[in-house]
Amino acid sequence: MIRYYMPVEFYFGKNALVENGGKLKQWGQKAIVITGRSSAKVSGALDDLTTVFEQNGQEYTIFDKIKENPYLTTVKEGAKKLQDYEADFVIGIGGGSPIDAAKAISALAYNNLQGEEIYQTKKYINGAYPIMAIPTTSGTGTEVTPYSVITNKENGIKAGFGSSHIFPKISFIDPKYTLSLPYKVTKDTAIDALSHLLEGIYSRRRNKVNFPIIKRGIEIIKDNLAICLNNPKNLECREKLMLASTYGGMVISQTSTTIQHSIGYPLTSSYGVTHGLANGLVMKHIMEKFYPYLQEELDDLFAYLEMSKEDFYEWIDSLNLNVGVKIEDWFIEEKVEEVLNSRNMALNPTEVTAEDIKEIYKKIQ
Ligand code: NAP
Ligand code: FE
Repeated sequence: MIRYYMPVEFYFGKNALVENGGKLKQWGQKAIVITGRSSAKVSGALDDLTTVFEQNGQEYTIFDKIKENPYLTTVKEGAKKLQDYEADFVIGIGGGSPIDAAKAISALAYNNLQGEEIYQTKKYINGAYPIMAIPTTSGTGTEVTPYSVITNKENGIKAGFGSSHIFPKISFIDPKYTLSLPYKVTKDTAIDALSHLLEGIYSRRRNKVNFPIIKRGIEIIKDNLAICLNNPKNLECREKLMLASTYGGMVISQTSTTIQHSIGYPLTSSYGVTHGLANGLVMKHIMEKFYPYLQEELDDLFAYLEMSKEDFYEWIDSLNLNVGVKIEDWFIEEKVEEVLNSRNMALNPTEVTAEDIKEIYKKIQ
């Protein structure tokens, strides 16, 4: 039996927010808007939102301190601001970093948590302030997932948590906000979306409702990423990548992620490799490890794409994913345990050992 639970109302398409901003009225009078330094402004999303607030007669305050791979300390600061301002709801604008931070801020403030308890969701997250999401990247799909990924500065561990309370209530997904994305962010975030789609196959929670959108999502990325990279202002192409990213989010909202994500987190927290690139670097190696256990599903994907597995690997190679730093031996020794302890590991299709993890890291050294 498949249970598919995706309780997010979302508006997808050009002017999604401008045309449907009235929907925000039902969530209260005062909002806290969570953003990064500049993406909310350069994408045009913040301008659209402030216009909507004016039309709705709503008040807001902005917390714009979210950096890439947000820290728990910043989340705590945002939660305090939410409480002091007595906001009724929370809006995250940006890539995955501000939107994940908005989710964490909402959960922390609502449950009066100090910080680290946030990872023990069952025990400590009993609700959240209503969350709205406005993505400006096409990668994480966080606007339709119940997850948030936050880094604990004290121990350097980047880890996700999931709770149905942090599913956004409404998401406004407008591809025009991605027209300002730089080349590298476009590429790396598309690879994150690709990872999510593949993990919908890898995860033990894979389900056949997802399979058609997984296949179509991967096809969209394969056929459109290069076009978007060469024509960054092409809205039609941007809309396609946004759709694939939304598909990826819908998929993992049901299946969660796997080692593909767990093994990438330390590359981000230790070496600053972007999230999408961290996934991309290990993509072929993870697929090779899982292929014997998922041959039918993966062959079905390759047949749909009219590619062989080798063609698929060649396409990944053609994306020129490069770590840009030397992965040292101490890192491999030290991080294996962290990967093994990551919550996403529970959903791998087969057992993955410490040796397997070391081997994969060595392959990208
Ligand atoms: P991001 O970290 O949110 O943003 C990356 C960079 O792109 C930032 O410098 C940002 O600027 C800039 N940027 C964003 N939108 C822009 C725009 N429209 N125009 C110009 N620049 C823009 O990137 P992301 O890949 O979307 O998010 C990654 C995070 O999401 C990671 O922490 C990852 O672990 C997490 N994630 C979460 C989920 C989930 O389900 N919750 C799934 C996958 C990944 P600013 O600094 O100004 O914002
Ligand atoms: Fe991801």
